[in-house]
Amino acid sequence: MNNYTNPAPRAFRAASLARPSEEEAQAAIRTLIRWAGDDPEREGLRDTPKRVAKSYGEFFRGYDEDPVALLERTFEEVEGYDEIVLLRDIRLESHCEHHMVPIIGRAHVAYLPHRRVVGISKLARVVDAYAHRLQIQEKLTAQICNTINEVLAPRGTAVIIEAAHECMTTRGVHKPGVSMVTSRMLGAFRDDPATRRELLAMVGHRAPGPLEA
Ligand SMILES: [Zn+2]
Repeated sequence: MNNYTNPAPRAFRAASLARPSEEEAQAAIRTLIRWAGDDPEREGLRDTPKRVAKSYGEFFRGYDEDPVALLERTFEEVEGYDEIVLLRDIRLESHCEHHMVPIIGRAHVAYLPHRRVVGISKLARVVDAYAHRLQIQEKLTAQICNTINEVLAPRGTAVIIEAAHECMTTRGVHKPGVSMVTSRMLGAFRDDPATRRELLAMVGHRAPGPLEA
């Protein structure tokens, strides 16, 4: 799974799209360097297309990952634990699908178990699997929440994402320091105000440090 140079499975990308060769990808990057106004043949840039193609393998590795499969192994010996499970401050790295620049922030993922729980690292990996694709924050939030809700069938699922978008901070309106917050709440988090309040208190107004964008 971590062999980014091997394009083999690519099972979750659009099936109708043939993957270009690495040669073709590098040629496209040389074109973008010329578009920026520089010479792709000068020494400092000569290996850049190769590096960028490789970086894309990391940035967009989520197309090779199946978030559903990540959640399939669960544990049932939970001694009746049925309170909120919250994984807080998951580092989020994604790319906006409109400008292909980074979205950097943090995600909070919570669920109310119904007889079974999942390893907490799996929640973080589901965030990663969707984040490492071309995204908008609203869709990313919904995808993470819907998948956990469908696979674990808990009594409730909630996802809150706060992130800075480089397409807003380094270009366009140039507004650094702005973060966008999205949330999706399902089940008890949506229907029961007390449960929702409890979650929001747990996520907390802890005055976290500024987002590293
Ligand atoms: Zn954008």
